[in-house]
Amino acid sequence: MSVAFAKIRGTAGVEFLFRLPQPHMTIGVLALQGDFDAHRHRLEELGAEVVLVRKPEQLDQIDGLVIPGGESGTFLKLLGKEGFEKLKQFVRVKPTFGTCAGAILLASEVENPEQHGLGALNIRIRRNAYGRQVDSSIREGKLFGARTSGDPHDGALPPDAIEMVFIRAPKIVHVGEGVEVLATEGSDPVAVRQGRAMAATFHPELSEDTRVHRAFLDLVRNGAD
Ligand code: GLN
Repeated sequence: MSVAFAKIRGTAGVEFLFRLPQPHMTIGVLALQGDFDAHRHRLEELGAEVVLVRKPEQLDQIDGLVIPGGESGTFLKLLGKEGFEKLKQFVRVKPTFGTCAGAILLASEVENPEQHGLGALNIRIRRNAYGRQVDSSIREGKLFGARTSGDPHDGALPPDAIEMVFIRAPKIVHVGEGVEVLATEGSDPVAVRQGRAMAATFHPELSEDTRVHRAFLDLVRNGAD
């Protein structure tokens, strides 16, 4: 987890920085398939304790969950009915961040082909939407509202350029009511949030930039306001 500091002004205008104690956070990364390890590294790098989630009961022991990229249809198969239902309950009450296939799982509507979603995000998402020639690409997009530190009182920054890695990416084709767009690429929304659920159609775990994961840890730390 990123570290927050408090600035205290002493005599003669001298400023002191104090480290603020951070609540302990355990983040689960769904490890049924896909690129869960890159998320684990990133979250650990940011100071979170990470558990690889392979069994439904592990969901009871975590404060937030990352659903990584992979193949959303395979995720559904591996989850099974019981796993899917348990995950559906989880995403209602605890912060969850889905990347790529994870974003597809969190959506309320999935097309190309139609597929069940957990319904945590009021979006319609189209699988493999970028076609063959740009199946995978690295592009520059814009990230809104990133904070400069883990301090929740920090002001949001103006939109800033961010590298985005797309791998057989889906496209968010409709953003419904209550969904906030966190990042765009061209005119497409590529990262969104609704309440406790957050998703990106790209792979922030594959770029050096830590801001997207920090935004998720902020969500876990502060809850959905
Ligand atoms: N194409 C995959 C799907 O439809 C997602 C790709 C990814 O997660 N990198 O599930």
